[in-house]
Amino acid sequence: MSVITLGTMAFDAIETPFGKVDKIVGGSGTYVAYAASHFVTPIQQISIVGYDFPQEEMDAMKARGVELDGVEIVPDKKSFFWSGKYHIDMNTRDTLITDLNVLADFNPVVPDSYQGAEYLMLGNLMPKLQMSVIDQLKQRPKLIVMDTMNFWMDIAMDDLKAVLKKVDVLLVNDGEARQLSGELSLVKAARTIMKMGPKFLIIKKGEHGALLFHEDHVFFAPALPLEEVFDPTGAGDTFAGGFIGHLAKTNDISFDNMKTAIIIGSAMASFCVEKFGSERLKEITKADIDARLAEFVQLVNFDIDLV
Ligand code: AMP
Repeated sequence: MSVITLGTMAFDAIETPFGKVDKIVGGSGTYVAYAASHFVTPIQQISIVGYDFPQEEMDAMKARGVELDGVEIVPDKKSFFWSGKYHIDMNTRDTLITDLNVLADFNPVVPDSYQGAEYLMLGNLMPKLQMSVIDQLKQRPKLIVMDTMNFWMDIAMDDLKAVLKKVDVLLVNDGEARQLSGELSLVKAARTIMKMGPKFLIIKKGEHGALLFHEDHVFFAPALPLEEVFDPTGAGDTFAGGFIGHLAKTNDISFDNMKTAIIIGSAMASFCVEKFGSERLKEITKADIDARLAEFVQLVNFDIDLV
């Protein structure tokens, strides 16, 4: 199965209570691609970078089965730059800088070689660009998953609502679910959002796990309690990559398999936060992932005798 992924490939400056980095490779598309490539290849990336994006990073992606035919390189502009500072609880952060740079004039083009992909992961990006990729596909993928963030809700809500009508699964965090729906209760928010288009909704709650909604069903995946969370940047994108990677690998889009997929997303996110940037995602092996999934099974496995 092939997976098309759309998202940013960027530089990030990050400050957490545990340290600070001025310029490391990040971007929603980068994290999604690294995470998904642990489960399925090819990952067919659509993005844009400037002259400053490191060739070694592109080579590392290619070596993992990420195709870059859909990644435009602009020779005279800088890559997208984002800077954020985490609060003491690491669950919330302030965006300090968003420099669009190459992103300002991005018109994604789906290469012919990507046509026919069964899975589409619309990573966090301008909703108009997410729509453009959907519109360019000659055959609708079996599953379209969309990630987004409050930034786009603030400045492009109408465009975002138009894309929502075309996707199967939406991923947002709890604050974004409330903002999108206007509801305080997450259950009510889910009901309202599922009427906007997506049949499945995932609400991420950082260190408190994630909820998967579908019709009247709801399923919960915990986040692994970790001794040290070093840098949560990219955890949401990594979750998305693990989620779609598992679905594409198994080629099963049932609600039951999505339950497994959100556990896998949580497991991948738990690796991502252990080091700055995407470092950890590059070094882990299948054995590491399997061992971590076993920890998740232990975490939520219990017997209960009702008397
Ligand atoms: P996450 O922590 O999963 O929300 O993702 C963080 C990544 O998203 C960072 O590596 C940023 O480069 C990237 N990012 C931040 N803001 C935006 C934005 N407005 N659009 C697309 N990507 C973004």
